[in-house]
Amino acid sequence: MAVRTGQQFIDGLRDDREVYYNGQRVADVTTFEPFKASVASLARLYDLQHDARYRETLTVECPTLGERIGRAFEMPRSQQDLRLKREAYRLWAESTCGMMGRSPDFLNVMLAALAAKRGFFAELSPERADAMVNYYQHCARHDLFLTHALLDPQLDKGKLRHQQSDPAICLRVVDRNSDGLVLHGIKRIATAAPYADEILVWPFPPTFQPGEEPHANVFAIPMNTKGLKTFCRPSFSHPGARHDYPLSSQFDEMDATVVFDQVLVPWERVFLHENIGLLNRMYRETRMRELTAHQTNARLEVKLGFVYAVLVKMAEAAGIAARADIMELLGEAVACLEVIRSTTRSAEEQATVDPENGLCYPDLFALQAGRALGPVFYPKLVGMIRKLGGGGLIQLPASLEEFDTPISADLERSLRGADINGQDKAQLFKLAWDLCGTEFGARHELYEMNYAGERGALLAGVQREYGRKQYYVDHLERFMGSL
Ligand SMILES: Cc1cc2nc3c(=O)[nH]c(=O)nc-3n(C[C@H](O)[C@H](O)[C@H](O)COP(=O)(O)OP(=O)(O)OC[C@H]3O[C@@H](n4cnc5c(N)ncnc54)[C@H](O)[C@@H]3O)c2cc1C
Repeated sequence: MAVRTGQQFIDGLRDDREVYYNGQRVADVTTFEPFKASVASLARLYDLQHDARYRETLTVECPTLGERIGRAFEMPRSQQDLRLKREAYRLWAESTCGMMGRSPDFLNVMLAALAAKRGFFAELSPERADAMVNYYQHCARHDLFLTHALLDPQLDKGKLRHQQSDPAICLRVVDRNSDGLVLHGIKRIATAAPYADEILVWPFPPTFQPGEEPHANVFAIPMNTKGLKTFCRPSFSHPGARHDYPLSSQFDEMDATVVFDQVLVPWERVFLHENIGLLNRMYRETRMRELTAHQTNARLEVKLGFVYAVLVKMAEAAGIAARADIMELLGEAVACLEVIRSTTRSAEEQATVDPENGLCYPDLFALQAGRALGPVFYPKLVGMIRKLGGGGLIQLPASLEEFDTPISADLERSLRGADINGQDKAQLFKLAWDLCGTEFGARHELYEMNYAGERGALLAGVQREYGRKQYYVDHLERFMGSL
């Protein structure tokens, strides 16, 4: 069953998974009001794969599996493959205005990256390598949607995992038998976990020290696995209020904590276990970041482009779009957008084929630049919305339906702008408020600042791994020598 429809995705979520919202168990995640709109938005992504206009971009014939699969699952072998993957990421991201950061393509391409480095997992054993490759094929074949959870709870940062006041908090192996490993403990933040098919777990940051072996595991299980519980944050969605909350009402990806209560992970789902040496090398040696950052930067380009367009419309609505200081502000937004846009294209241009597996990898340094600057650029553009909107952002009717009431004429007069009527301007400003003022908007700033890990650690990694450092240092030294 490759390349699912939206309905098939929804049907697949109707199982006995243990999802809790506000302390209550959710009976059906597809009809539960706080999740329903996001599930529908994800279902639309699956339906797009069957739309004749997009089918060739969003799906591809897989020679290994002998069937069509989602484009993100494809293992790229040329720069052209990378360009097509980016086009697929763009199409899906545009369907959610770039607001669903954990759309299925993110982890699908991650799986392709992991499976493409079979040799890395084979260092532990051929069985683990087979498990990794088989799992990738299973997910591609069934077009599954994965969530992931990397982090331990925010405990005492001065202590290692097993030194915490309660050593049972951080997820670890507590037993093993002929069927698999038994894991117990907690992980966060699993975005979209309530309505994902499966969860992929590995630990972050990859800085394990001796004694932490029981915590060093990579595995995947279905979300309805016995003993797995999902706890949700408060919903930020406003079901049905599409005009008043254009983004929250459709794209609020639920974030969750996942609790493993003596969960049995079958051996065929264990990809790496109790090995700190391998885990500390995993990010670099599986080259997973090259392929995933290509997707995340392509998505961020769409999101920044969306916010930029809102800024343009707000400036026009205020009749100030041609003023020099506003042109400067908009020009700065363009510069941010273009830098992120350039990272994917530059990475494709500088892509190289890895002789070990024949895959074509986009340039890591170009992509990491996007990941390092996104956390600065996104809040900057959202700040521009606040600046341009001023008090107008707060002076909006509770509902746009008020334009159908007796106060309509006064509302119209109080809200109109330059060449825009009051109702249209209120709609634009409602959208702007959803980006900069609602809980949804705040969550998105936090997301862009953190989704690729804490920025300080990311930047330190960029410097540590920078492969072109010597080139620039050599040039400087030649110059100094010539003085
Ligand atoms: C909206 C959202 C969605 C997310 N979705 C996912 C997801 O789907 N899957 C997933 O696995 N993760 C997800 N994440 C988690 C994300 O990867 C982390 O938030 C990010 O890595 C930062 O880690 P943290 O939250 O533990 O913050 P911390 O690492 O605790 O950082 C918080 C602050 O503490 C400081 N700090 C941390 N350690 C130290 C130290 N040793 N010394 C001094 N200062 C320190 C940092 O500088 C920072 O200022 C999501 C996060 C957000 C906000």
